[in-house]
Amino acid sequence: MFALAARRMGYRVHTFSPESDTPTGQVADVEMQAAYEDLDAVRRFASGVRVVTFEFENVPAATAAAAAERAPVRPAGHILHTTQQRLREKSFLSSSGFPTTRFAAVRSMEDLHRAVREVGLPAVIKTASFGYDGKGQANATTLAEAEAALAESPQVERIYEGFVDFEREVSVVAARGADGAFAHWGVIENTHRNHILDLSVSPAGVDPKTAVRAIEIAQGILQKLEVVGVLCVEFFLTKAGELLVNELAPRPHNSGHLTIDAHVTSQFEQQLRAVCGLPLGSTAQLCSAAMANLLGDLWANGEPDWAAACALPGVKLHLYGKSEARPGRKMGHLTALADTARRAAQLALEARARLTRK
Ligand code: AMP
Repeated sequence: MFALAARRMGYRVHTFSPESDTPTGQVADVEMQAAYEDLDAVRRFASGVRVVTFEFENVPAATAAAAAERAPVRPAGHILHTTQQRLREKSFLSSSGFPTTRFAAVRSMEDLHRAVREVGLPAVIKTASFGYDGKGQANATTLAEAEAALAESPQVERIYEGFVDFEREVSVVAARGADGAFAHWGVIENTHRNHILDLSVSPAGVDPKTAVRAIEIAQGILQKLEVVGVLCVEFFLTKAGELLVNELAPRPHNSGHLTIDAHVTSQFEQQLRAVCGLPLGSTAQLCSAAMANLLGDLWANGEPDWAAACALPGVKLHLYGKSEARPGRKMGHLTALADTARRAAQLALEARARLTRK
């Protein structure tokens, strides 16, 4: 989606990935296949471009550093380093005064017992590195469940978080330009299923004060990290009306995909503008919108019924060109546009239900 935005504005795109025939590779001018650890290949790649960005925060920090020897990397590698490890990320947030869930580092059974005493139960235990879309996460309501979550490899670094009985989850996707300009797409409301984003609705059904506060927190984080590009802040909104930062994603985010169809400038075009040093574009919202993710599970009984979903007015189909439809894998999304957020959500869900052949 970034490459499409770049091509539309006349840029040429080179992509670097350990895989071939990637969604970006399918629309890029050059697709280089090499391991992220192959730093000579990374340097060769970066020598051929004017600016480097990334769409995946688990690119190793050393890879970003090698690229930065040959071309500017935006956002900078230190932002990847902070956000790709949950303990580093939460420590950065809490030491900078941003509100987060209560958490503790766990590297052994003793640490776990201390965390249970200090943070309490129920809890969510997550691997500190390389976890996303619910991978490496376990919920625990009892000590025995917490111990079981560690049983296989107690020495793997984990974060132990107090379970938040949230009222809803929201995100703020925001951008910062090289000149410090700030832009955001308002507050988006998110529903997860099995820890994977299922539905995003914009604007979120939160009171104006909460919306202002969420945007202020996001702006503070982008400034503090000196981000040049797009960054998403995911929040829990507690039943007491408190906002807690759950996670940062230093890139265009799944909850911002609806900006392609519903806003003057999408998160992808904004990423391009920021990293290429262009002025940020207007983020004005054209109409209410909802986005439903399409996971590989939808292919269980063969090709989904695209025509049935596309027959609904206001529904837009986005497929990423991933070759294999595995359960839980994000294959594409549907965006529905309507006059209210509620109607957009209903329409997106109806369109997705129509994909499953009877
Ligand atoms: P994460 O990978 O941290 O974004 O977690 C994925 C999803 O799991 C979140 O969007 C929540 O729905 C749920 N989750 C994660 N951490 C917590 C927590 N501390 N309390 C309650 N739910 C959580």
